[in-house]
Amino acid sequence: MNSKFSKLSFLIIIIVSSLIISSCGEQNASADLVLYNGKIVTLNDSDYVAEAIAVKNDTIWKIGTSENIKQLIGKNTEKINLKGKFVIPGFNDAHLHFEGVGQAKMKLELQKATNWNEIILMVLEASEKAKPGEWILGRGWHQEKWDPNPDPNVEGYPIHEQLSRATPYNPVMLTHASGHAVFVNTKAMELAGIDDSTKSPEGGKIVRDADGKATGVFEENAETLITAKLNEYLNSRTPEAIKSDKLKALKLGYEEFHKYGITSVTDAGSTFDDIDFYKSLADSSQLQVRLNTMLYIEDAKELAEKISGYKIYGYGNNFLSVHSIKKYIDGALGSRGALFMADYSDLPGHRGQLVTPISEMEKAADIAIENGFQLCTHAIGDKGNREVLRIYKNAFDKHPDKTDLRWRVEHAQHLSVRDIPKFGEYGVIASMQGIHCTSDAPYVINRLGSYRAEKGAYVWRDLIDSGAIICNGTDAPIESVNTINNFYALVTRRTKDDREFYPQQKMTRLEALRAYTINGAYASFEEDIKGTLEAGKLADIVVLSEDLLECADWRIPNTEIIYTILGGKIVYKTEEK
Ligand SMILES: [Zn+2]
Repeated sequence: MNSKFSKLSFLIIIIVSSLIISSCGEQNASADLVLYNGKIVTLNDSDYVAEAIAVKNDTIWKIGTSENIKQLIGKNTEKINLKGKFVIPGFNDAHLHFEGVGQAKMKLELQKATNWNEIILMVLEASEKAKPGEWILGRGWHQEKWDPNPDPNVEGYPIHEQLSRATPYNPVMLTHASGHAVFVNTKAMELAGIDDSTKSPEGGKIVRDADGKATGVFEENAETLITAKLNEYLNSRTPEAIKSDKLKALKLGYEEFHKYGITSVTDAGSTFDDIDFYKSLADSSQLQVRLNTMLYIEDAKELAEKISGYKIYGYGNNFLSVHSIKKYIDGALGSRGALFMADYSDLPGHRGQLVTPISEMEKAADIAIENGFQLCTHAIGDKGNREVLRIYKNAFDKHPDKTDLRWRVEHAQHLSVRDIPKFGEYGVIASMQGIHCTSDAPYVINRLGSYRAEKGAYVWRDLIDSGAIICNGTDAPIESVNTINNFYALVTRRTKDDREFYPQQKMTRLEALRAYTINGAYASFEEDIKGTLEAGKLADIVVLSEDLLECADWRIPNTEIIYTILGGKIVYKTEEK
């Protein structure tokens, strides 16, 4: 090779590579995204309030004053002038039903109807677009919220005939707002083989008129008479159709999450198949909210066999984690399924249902502790909560070597005064839903009487003061994922008709923000990577129109989500007015 040429090419290589290095250097010195001129409430231990954040890739790079952070702006940096807006870590909904959020959007949204006639019209309209035999599904009706009351009615519920005449070719199933009853038409009852002689199953009721004819309402366990047929229909579709439906539901769910500033969720119950599916989504960057999911497997043998292969932390760039087991000890307050030590005030002789035998609960506790899994048990009534706390304590005592377990009680809704301090003492997390308090308030005193309502219902203040950690969720689709309404419930305990429900149990603004961010991260063992705004943590950020620490109570419900940022990417933005 000609030596002159080789010298020249050597020189060129040096120049080009130094150019590359210097341009990389410049890129390294600049942020991908900078937010400045804001009130950035970091929620870290020092309660530091910053003005600006610099994001690099999916992570918070630096946080500080606008002056300092603006120096990290390069020519490719996206800039957001916050103009004084309020910024916090992305909301973490610590208890909801992940696929259910979008699935509810794919059904008729019956909560919008103000009476039964409107519902019939909604179903009729849907049936005109449906193919014969296709199921028409709706959810969210509540007979006590209608005006006028249905006529005729049985136990306050409408009767199916009018609806059945309007929809002769399609089975119809309309789920109650509580999820604890369904309303169906003749076609659905025919498919399910329901006639005058069909008996109500244990723990359920086929509502009948004075002549013994089924009215169309199936309560509690009787729902499965219908849902078994629906599931048969759904499962008979092709795998492609099933998958595309799931993806459609998830997409609708993501839209809801982003719209309300939610960047992380905990799903209260997945099967092994669900988790395999979520892993495949994480692999292809199709999970668009950070998902922590609990394993809900009824068969203890199957659970014990497969559980060790399903402990997952931070999968797919911190989009999927699994390290907990879901159990139920009782039912809900609305349907009087929650388990109490004394009778329901509005139904003497009835104390609710133990839905899982204690021996089975203890077995789940053993499986959880031996496999290093967190146990998360649904408990609503005071007796349900007492039993769960006792089972947890026994498991902890049996395994003194296991620490930092962070077992959770889902809902922890009605507590005996004696049990409140046990949460803090045992290190059990109370996973609660602020919005349940204000939406249930109108009937809580009827169900429980004023003593139990005052001393033990949604006692956030007493729990926090006795050292418990509360994380906050919505239980969507039972409630909307609306973060603002849920936050408002936590800090005001004001119902829709503007009454306060035992306001002495309110959270402070700061406590409520923590319950919705860092405490949710702690409850899923992820407080090192999210839940506060700090350098090195994930850039999950929400920008709000109101200062949720300082604004007047009445302004809170009008708060808008301006930006939702997930892993440094803007996934939601309101148009500037
Ligand atoms: Zn739930």
